[in-house]
Amino acid sequence: MVETARIFIALGANLPFEARSPQATLSRALQLMPSRGVEVVCVSSFWMSPAWPDPEKPDYVNAVAQIATNKTPLELLETLLSIESSFGRRRNERWDSRTIDLDLLDFNRVTLTHARLTLPHPRLCDRAFVLLPLAEIASDWQHPVSGQSVSALVNALDQRLVSETVRTV
Ligand code: ADP
Ligand code: MG
Repeated sequence: MVETARIFIALGANLPFEARSPQATLSRALQLMPSRGVEVVCVSSFWMSPAWPDPEKPDYVNAVAQIATNKTPLELLETLLSIESSFGRRRNERWDSRTIDLDLLDFNRVTLTHARLTLPHPRLCDRAFVLLPLAEIASDWQHPVSGQSVSALVNALDQRLVSETVRTV
């Protein structure tokens, strides 16, 4: 069966913004998206996991959403970065705690290597907090390059990471 064209983004946060919880920030970011030209088709549960690489940092909340848009991949990235700014995202060190992170996982199976955007997202295969919510909303998803199914990618993860990544609401 030919997979239909779909776009998936990952959402994550582990710091409060304006006294609201990370979960509230992700919900508000999803609510804002239609006004920025991004239709939200479907959202996973919110999943919790320990911060990586430093588990002393606050736990993360993560989700994956299927979206639809008329934007190009680079236009969509700019929109996601601008939504991050609206929720106080500051870039310090790599992998530092953040009020919100919005990543573009897969844009209609396009492969792209650009200075500002790599598609599919280059680290999605290592991340239980991406693959578990993706499997929840798109169990038929396959990696655009390797063709591996999302369940095969979950099985290939370090199972300790999988067991630490817990579905909430
Ligand atoms: P990370 O999400 O890996 O913690 P950042 O959110 O700070 O890191 O993103 C750093 C840069 O990664 C962004 O400014 C963006 O230009 C670039 N980038 C490359 N590919 C992607 C992608 N698929 N999704 C989101 N950002 C990407
Ligand atoms: Mg990011």
